[in-house]
Amino acid sequence: MQSECDLLVIGSGAAGLSAAVTAAHGGLRVIVAEKDAVLGGTSAWSGGWIWAPGNPVCAAAGTSDSAEAAETYLRAVLGTRFDAARVQAFLTHAPRMVAFFQSQTALAFEPGSQIPDTYGHLPGAGTGGRSVTAAPYDGRALGPLIRLLRRPLRETTFWGLTIQAGPDLRAFMTMTRDLRAFAHVARRMMLHLWDLARHGRAMQLRNGQALIARLIRSAADLGVEFRPNSPAVRLLTEAERVAGAVLATGSGEVTIRARRGVVLASGGFPHDLPQRSLAVPTATGDGRHLAGAVGARQGRTASPGAWCPVSVVRWPDGREAPFPHIIERGKPG
Ligand SMILES: Cc1cc2nc3c(=O)[nH]c(=O)nc-3n(C[C@H](O)[C@H](O)[C@H](O)COP(=O)(O)OP(=O)(O)OC[C@H]3O[C@@H](n4cnc5c(N)ncnc54)[C@H](O)[C@@H]3O)c2cc1C
Repeated sequence: MQSECDLLVIGSGAAGLSAAVTAAHGGLRVIVAEKDAVLGGTSAWSGGWIWAPGNPVCAAAGTSDSAEAAETYLRAVLGTRFDAARVQAFLTHAPRMVAFFQSQTALAFEPGSQIPDTYGHLPGAGTGGRSVTAAPYDGRALGPLIRLLRRPLRETTFWGLTIQAGPDLRAFMTMTRDLRAFAHVARRMMLHLWDLARHGRAMQLRNGQALIARLIRSAADLGVEFRPNSPAVRLLTEAERVAGAVLATGSGEVTIRARRGVVLASGGFPHDLPQRSLAVPTATGDGRHLAGAVGARQGRTASPGAWCPVSVVRWPDGREAPFPHIIERGKPG
């Protein structure tokens, strides 16, 4: 079987879906191929915080920041790996990215006015106002597409309910001491229990769940075609260019020819090694292998992984899962 599109995106996390939305907004016909039965990858399990210094959402909320301060911070964090051209490109385009999604798509953001930079002791570190996260989203707005949204990670939710860093988390932590916090939590829990009874899943989406749901909505609104259960297994080359990919589907191999290009957005490669990882099990470095097979080489990266201590949670049904300890930014643990 064969299909055609302008752009083929391999992987449906935040990277893949945002590339798909941007391309479709520019008028391209886009197909997103996803290895798993659901969309969202590790992004759907994440806090969803996007570090974008100088972004217009935080500026509108009253943050005053400068690109120079953010550059100073990156210089201190990256040390000898600081790459001036790439940092400059990032600092120029991150605010534009936030502005684009906020004004042109279903992705609305909230400012992280009180989310400090991770390495607060370094020069240029911000105490808040450099990050944004997706605004809470009602899963009902996805209609039948809600079935394609990866469910949150059981270990980091409260009965399947995602709790957002900032005022929401603070209310959960102080509900026994503060009446307003108690009322907030009681309302959230009542709505959640109703959603569980009615829909069998959380519908008050926050964090990475809200980010991915909003990106799915935006992509669907622009006519992007989703192909779940379709891992890319080979890239097609034609006259020295990548011209598509072969997907392994339940009904056999499908060839997708992409007139304008292929975006590899298959996540990292944490499951390449026998270690515990918080990433989805499908993050096995396929993009790296696909690109390597047509002659690509991996360049020098800032860091091949973000290390995070985990505890092993043992559930009564015998299942084991990692629980993250990310203390710096007020996330679970
Ligand atoms: C608990 C937790 C909290 C986090 N919080 C934050 C945060 O607040 N801020 C932050 O910046 N980062 C955070 N992270 C890290 C962040 O989630 C990841 O860096 C990010 O989601 C990676 O996005 P991605 O789109 O590159 O990959 P992913 O979201 O993993 O998506 C990759 C997708 O590609 C698919 N795929 C793989 N191989 C193939 C193939 N051959 N064909 C088709 N599809 C394929 C996968 O199934 C997956 O769906 C957090 C991570 C965790 C686990």
